[in-house]
Amino acid sequence: MNFKKSSSEPSAFHGKAYYFIFSKNNILVKKESQNRVSILCIGKKSFLQMTLNHICFLGTLEDMPCYCASIPCKELPEEYEWINLRALYGKTDDMFWTIAGYARQIYDWNMNFKFCGKCGAKTRRKKNESARVCPECSLISYPRISPAIITAVVKDDQILLARGINFPNKKMFSILAGFVEPGESLEECVKREIFEEVGVKVKNIRYFKSQPWPFPDSLMIGFTAVYESGELLIDKQEIVEAGWFKAANLPIIPGKQSLARSLIDWFVKGKI
Ligand SMILES: [Zn+2]
Repeated sequence: MNFKKSSSEPSAFHGKAYYFIFSKNNILVKKESQNRVSILCIGKKSFLQMTLNHICFLGTLEDMPCYCASIPCKELPEEYEWINLRALYGKTDDMFWTIAGYARQIYDWNMNFKFCGKCGAKTRRKKNESARVCPECSLISYPRISPAIITAVVKDDQILLARGINFPNKKMFSILAGFVEPGESLEECVKREIFEEVGVKVKNIRYFKSQPWPFPDSLMIGFTAVYESGELLIDKQEIVEAGWFKAANLPIIPGKQSLARSLIDWFVKGKI
């Protein structure tokens, strides 16, 4: 399946379309079977007599138009449900999960940038470009992306894992991550974040891969690094506990949809 992003909505379109419909942190899905759901595919811009709000064209999936939209979070008939976007992973094809993440970011951006940050006037969607423009001062704003590094730090046959204060799962450990600051390279960010959070210096920083992470608008940039010096000294504002773990003795770790998990799997594979 091929998803083609576009900001130019087909003009003469009257068939069915995919609607990624949000309310609060949830997305509306149709139940298919146990543990499988599908994205809403409907032929009109309303659902159960509710008019869809904040409709925005996203692009096409195999010639089928895709939109994001919202409706109030109401009780639904048996065959539909609201689920958290994180929980959608594994319940539908990966392509739909990826588009749902993109849809969420475009939806949030449309909602959060309704007014110009410079002069306060109402903004509108720019034609033929994924941007919002201010009719008063012409300021253009593009969808916001917040870069964040995430790093697997390895010391001999162990990996550094920590339990963050804000993790939804209180028993889960993961590798360290943090937002890039203005004026900082990605490598400098890796060194700073790890030193700030656990007091350890690292070397041999290598790029691994990246992943868009729509919670709410991150671009996760993955690295591997090697322990250089220092004893674990936790920043208690951010970390509850941290430690070095062997591949055979890992705690609860993030799910397979995350870059954190890809990096931990990379470490485990190298140790088997
Ligand atoms: Zn303005």
